[in-house]
Amino acid sequence: MRFKPCGKLIVGTHDEPLNQLLPIQNKAQDNGVNDLVLLDAQQARDLEPELFCKAALLSPSTGIVDSHSLMLSYQGDFENAGGVVVFYASVNRVLVKDHGFELTMKDDTCIASRYLVNAAGLLAPLLAHFIEGYASSFAPQPYYAKGNYFTLSRKSFFQRLIYLVPEAAGLGVHLTLDMGNQDKFGPDVQWVDDPLDLEVDPSRGDSFYAEVRKY
Ligand SMILES: Cc1cc2nc3c(=O)[nH]c(=O)nc-3n(C[C@H](O)[C@H](O)[C@H](O)COP(=O)(O)OP(=O)(O)OC[C@H]3O[C@@H](n4cnc5c(N)ncnc54)[C@H](O)[C@@H]3O)c2cc1C
Repeated sequence: MRFKPCGKLIVGTHDEPLNQLLPIQNKAQDNGVNDLVLLDAQQARDLEPELFCKAALLSPSTGIVDSHSLMLSYQGDFENAGGVVVFYASVNRVLVKDHGFELTMKDDTCIASRYLVNAAGLLAPLLAHFIEGYASSFAPQPYYAKGNYFTLSRKSFFQRLIYLVPEAAGLGVHLTLDMGNQDKFGPDVQWVDDPLDLEVDPSRGDSFYAEVRKY
């Protein structure tokens, strides 16, 4: 699998950055991540000369992976363990039976199963509402937040991923590098009603500019 251990800086840009960064370092430690290093502004700039911050946390073990080859390797592990993956099989109907479930696909193929895990991502709450014999009061009410991204149309400024400290509903407009060295800024948080609304409004670029200028 292709991956790049590029590292990450989480940057504090406000006047008292340690109030933001130390809780993140503590939480990392609680989760068994012990290699975060606290840097002052100059130490951070020695690593990334174009960066502005008051202090930063360096995560040397963060990296990026090629998500498609990661999925392929998961599929390989699953099949080696005896699993079967069926692609292009949209589930249209689910019935609760005495000893399990009956699933009907878009092409009318039926599958009986003893257990069912509803992992349909953004559409999982909707699917839960359609399971016949399952009280829809158990199905959660979805709230959809869209995260827009903008790509940088010039050579990268940075070697590492750069994150602001997380905000209420997201990770903040951070800088992501991909395996092809393309920089992306995002995501912001835009509350929407339709989970399939993937249009990006170009006028949001102004607020991105303000966020990105912070670092
Ligand atoms: C641009 C972007 C960048 C991200 N970056 C990161 C990152 O760096 N690190 C990280 O940890 N996470 C990242 N995430 C988040 C991560 O991708 C998601 O949290 C994760 O994919 C959720 O997995 P899931 O299996 O719950 O849902 P999904 O990956 O959404 O899978 C749900 C699947 O269910 C299928 N499905 C839906 N309805 C039906 C139906 N009726 N019948 C059959 N199948 C159905 C869908 O086709 C889909 O394949 C990122 C997400 C985005 C969009």
